[in-house]
Amino acid sequence: MSALGDIIASMIAEDGPISLEQYMALALGDPRHGYYMTRDPLGAKGDFITAPEISQMFGELIGVWCADYWTRMGEPARVHLVELGPGRGTLMRDALRAARVLPACVNALDVHLVDTSPVLRDSQRATLASAGVAISWHASFDEVPPGPLIVIANEFFDALPARHYVRTRDGWRGRVVGLTRDGRLGFGAGPDVEPTLRVEAPDGAIIEINPIAQRVMGAIAARIEAHGGAVLAIDYGYVTTSLGETLQAMRGHAYVNPLDEPGEADLTTHVDFAALGRAARAAGAATFGPVTQGQLLERLGIFDRARSLARGADAPRIRAIESELKRLIATNDGISPVHGKVSGMGGLFKALAVTQTGGPIPAGFEEGASAP
Ligand code: SAH
Repeated sequence: MSALGDIIASMIAEDGPISLEQYMALALGDPRHGYYMTRDPLGAKGDFITAPEISQMFGELIGVWCADYWTRMGEPARVHLVELGPGRGTLMRDALRAARVLPACVNALDVHLVDTSPVLRDSQRATLASAGVAISWHASFDEVPPGPLIVIANEFFDALPARHYVRTRDGWRGRVVGLTRDGRLGFGAGPDVEPTLRVEAPDGAIIEINPIAQRVMGAIAARIEAHGGAVLAIDYGYVTTSLGETLQAMRGHAYVNPLDEPGEADLTTHVDFAALGRAARAAGAATFGPVTQGQLLERLGIFDRARSLARGADAPRIRAIESELKRLIATNDGISPVHGKVSGMGGLFKALAVTQTGGPIPAGFEEGASAP
């Protein structure tokens, strides 16, 4: 087991099983051994790759989306551009470059990066050193000062600790991580029945919920409702709340057992976009979508962007652009030059927008979702 695995095992031996939410919080965020605290997980040498790391087109189109929303908002003199979980800062760098088509917009921006990872913060600082905008860092969204805001979150909500409930004969019990007879970490059902869960399901069924994600979305939506602005949340996930669980662990671009080596593998769950939308509406804000990532990028003009990048490029570069395009928008399996056969992100990934009620409709969401 990993160093953190040993620590968690002795915690459990002493105090009893911990909830899945606590386990994920430790595995990802333990100050000394947590996954995001100790490494840059992105890219070919890391554990997973994200859309902005695949192609500059992704961040550029989001930058244009932000600049366009700033225009639709009536060009406020100051606006907070907030990114949650900005990774290496690549999306923000590409977005700011693209937003420069509207210099007045870039001049109105105060950039806020919300990230808990010291390693990735260093990387963001380096990537954005010459971005030419004021940047501040925060450990949580609540630290972002009041005012109109545009919030971007790509593959952020999937990294927040989730809860599971397991159906037992007498009701739903919290799913816990305990110790097996041979001293390894194993799943079990906690002692208490959750009285508020009344869904009927066969024994062993699992419900997954993410109260932290809902709370974060609620806090952002309340700000937007009070001060104006929009959120764009992009992630892999589903559009209807349903039974079942999606916890997964990735290490070196392969799936591993989520309990095997806490702190050494990325742990995520798929995002329940229906629940995020409900949290935003409960805070008084309006929601749009979700649409698929493919639909959003097509509506924002990814084909034109790809064509203009390809103009004057040599043959290998043109092939690279084509393959990036495919990975971002394809809904079926595509071929990656680095990882071989991979799933296209265009269908599994969804985009949800949240705005002030009665505020401008964000680009790409005018038509609602069509069948993928
Ligand atoms: N958005 C980036 C990175 C995605 S990885 C991209 O698309 O490439 C997830 C990011 O969220 C990392 O930057 C990680 O450090 C950050 N993160 C994870 N948990 C967090 C938390 N609880 N609060 C703030 N940031 C978090």
